[in-house]
Formats: sequence, C-alpha cells, structure tokens
Amino acid sequence: MEIKIIKEARKSLLLKIVSKDEIVVKAPLRTADAVIQKFINSKKLWIEKHIKRMNMLDDFASSFDFAHLIYENGIPVMETKNLRLDYEKLSEKTKLKSIKNQYLSMFSVLKERTIFLAQKYNFKVDKISYCSSSVKWGSYSSTGELKLNYKLIILPEHLVDYVIVHELSHIKHMNHKPQFWKEVEKYYPDYKKARKEMKLYSFVLKTKF
Ligand SMILES: [Zn+2]
Repeated sequence: MEIKIIKEARKSLLLKIVSKDEIVVKAPLRTADAVIQKFINSKKLWIEKHIKRMNMLDDFASSFDFAHLIYENGIPVMETKNLRLDYEKLSEKTKLKSIKNQYLSMFSVLKERTIFLAQKYNFKVDKISYCSSSVKWGSYSSTGELKLNYKLIILPEHLVDYVIVHELSHIKHMNHKPQFWKEVEKYYPDYKKARKEMKLYSFVLKTKF
C-alpha cells in the first residue's frame, strides 16, 4: 500500500483512502514529518477496517456477472454498464437516494429467487415485498407477507438463499425455537455456517440508505 503525503495550504490533517492500494494524507505546509506519521499511526485501525470492507465488497462483486460494485462514501454501490452515476456532481442526499434506487431496481432478482425456492420447497407465499431496515434482513408476518431487505442484493447468492429459506421456514414456525431451525436445516443443511457468515455483512445492514 502506498501512502502519498501532500503538503498544502490547509488548516488540518486529512487522510483519505483512495483505493485499496493508495492512501492520501494531506497536511498543512509546515507540519513536521513526525506529526504526520503519528497521525497516520493513530488512524491505522480505521484504515484496516475500511480496507477489509473494500476487500469484502470485491467478493460481493465477483458473485454477480451483471454488475460490479464500487465503494462510495462507505456504501457499496452497484455500477452497471448502463448505469453510471456521476457521483461527484450529486449532493449527499441525492447520492444516497440514487444508491437506494439502484438496489431497488434489482429487487426483482430477490423476488424471483424467493418464488423459485418457495415452489421448490412447497411453501405458499401470498406477498413478497421489500423492506428497508438497519436491523433485519427479512421478515415474515402472520398476514402472509414475506419481506426482504433490498440490501440483500449485494450479498453472495448462497447467503441470499439462506435468508429466503429462513423467512420461508417462518411460514411453519413463527419463532426461533428448535423446531424452526430443524425446518431451516431441511432445506439449508449448512445454516449454522451461513448464520456466522451473515455477521460479516452486518455492516451493510447497518449502513443507512
Ligand atoms: Zn427469523
């Protein structure tokens, strides 16, 4: 990883992760090198955390052949051939809205997968809709409505399947008791591993957009 240090007419120190291989530090003209180094060291954990996120996003991207993801303001963004947004020109609020719209435009993929799995495992779903939540990937209500968080679209397919199977299993058991997990296991034997893996992606869930 390369750390580029730029001294310029400015009042404070700034650190920016440009890419996984490039970090830029901007400092006021007369800042001592030791001060800059200390500043970089103090941001080490933060840098590591963000690089880890970026690597994870690359993994997301490799599971999709119709889109790839770019990382924008801490939020994974899908970029397709037909859809390329000029983010620099957008306001913060518009950016978030456009990212959400991208996710929503692909919700049909999640819906189709749910219909497919419901048919395969003999579940009857009355309604499939999307939800926006920072705590839940999906839900099933006694009114027969299955909701999926639109952020799921960027998870690897096997985890999307896990969430769908989990919610479908709630049709039979509206709780998380052992019988429920037995139901999940019937269709998704590796569910324990999937649950652990889901934790890795909680940052996507927690990102508000
Ligand atoms: Zn549940």
